[in-house]
Amino acid sequence: MAEDVIVIGGGIVGASATYALARRGARVTLVDRGDVGQATASGAGILSPGASIRPLPAFFAIGRPASAYYDTLLAQLAEDGETETGYAVAGLLHVATSAEEGARLPELARLFVERRAAGFGQVGDVSEITGDEARARFPALGPAILGAVATTGAARVDGRLLRDALRRAAERRGARIVIGDAALEIAAAGGRVDAVLVGGERQAAGTVIVAGGAWSAALGEALGVALPVFPQRGQIAHLALPGSVTGGWPIVVGFHAHYLLTFAPERVVAGATRESESGFDARMTAGGVHEALVEALRVAPGLGGATLVEVRIGLRPASPDGLPLLGWLPGYDNVLVATGHGPSGLQLGPYSGAVVAGLALGEPAPLALEPFAVERFARA
Ligand SMILES: Cc1cc2nc3c(=O)[nH]c(=O)nc-3n(C[C@H](O)[C@H](O)[C@H](O)COP(=O)(O)OP(=O)(O)OC[C@H]3O[C@@H](n4cnc5c(N)ncnc54)[C@H](O)[C@@H]3O)c2cc1C
Repeated sequence: MAEDVIVIGGGIVGASATYALARRGARVTLVDRGDVGQATASGAGILSPGASIRPLPAFFAIGRPASAYYDTLLAQLAEDGETETGYAVAGLLHVATSAEEGARLPELARLFVERRAAGFGQVGDVSEITGDEARARFPALGPAILGAVATTGAARVDGRLLRDALRRAAERRGARIVIGDAALEIAAAGGRVDAVLVGGERQAAGTVIVAGGAWSAALGEALGVALPVFPQRGQIAHLALPGSVTGGWPIVVGFHAHYLLTFAPERVVAGATRESESGFDARMTAGGVHEALVEALRVAPGLGGATLVEVRIGLRPASPDGLPLLGWLPGYDNVLVATGHGPSGLQLGPYSGAVVAGLALGEPAPLALEPFAVERFARA
């Protein structure tokens, strides 16, 4: 029988890796500590890498297969009886709030069309619309919106629901899920992790997958390899807008980092702060809530009367160059890493989990992993 794969971290990345392994008949154990601040539990859930204005070519190299992988994954989960993921195609409005931003919309529309032609899913039809048309589609938007580029293919997902669906389906296919703090037992000669220790339990390891989100650096430290992943706090407000059917409203993004998205029947999610100096401090702060709400009400004053239901706080696993760390850990025969997805882990993470699952099973990588290799930081 194949040796055990042990996945450390039960956010979206580790849950996806565990599910992919369990589906293929591998013996797999997932260990999760359930830290307060788990990013997956707070992520907004916007899925639209083709409509990102990020410039890094390597982001698109992984974004394209990751957007295609969502369809595969949702079909697999449905086969396993899991359909509650909060996934829906909602469409997206990229809004302009100044004349200068308005002048950039035609160029943006062309970019999205090019991305669609290059094979990106989650783009769909692309059109330029007026401020009034934008307000008709998202009625809480106010006069600050001068126009928008609308795309029909953007989707959103509920990170908590998708994570739990993956974990349940993996368990039904034989995966073991252990709640606790995973420590590593390194071989006396080095170069290999012999076992993972959780509480008093020792489990011999065939392969170990490090998917510890913002906490991955500590695992790297135990292995003597720098994993320069750091926590970036995000505070995100959940509003209820009674009487509206907000589930049908599109995602709203702009030329800045803030956004709005909706979940049926009446929830509007407004985010998010990007606090790179937060450390592992997962508190709600006055400044963070202020920032999320001020920005939301600037573009959508119609949310002023909404109920502030909760503020979620997550620690994004950020990396110095904004790209994930994905692949074999240098210096080790049997350790894989899938972390550092920063603000994009809900869109990229399910695919990254499947990529490392494939590597653990001895398959070749389905994409060039050099831009994501841990070694790039040593070179830098
Ligand atoms: C406010 C906010 C909004 C976001 N919006 C979006 C979005 O719209 N779209 C998008 O694509 N992404 C978004 N993200 C980013 C996305 O949520 C993250 O990139 C992604 O969830 C990271 O998943 P992960 O599995 O790597 O880490 P996490 O979800 O943080 O999970 C890591 C897990 O590992 C566990 N762990 C760590 N060390 C150990 C150990 N030694 N033993 C046992 N367990 C351990 C932790 O307890 C934790 O449960 C957002 C994030 C935030 C905070």
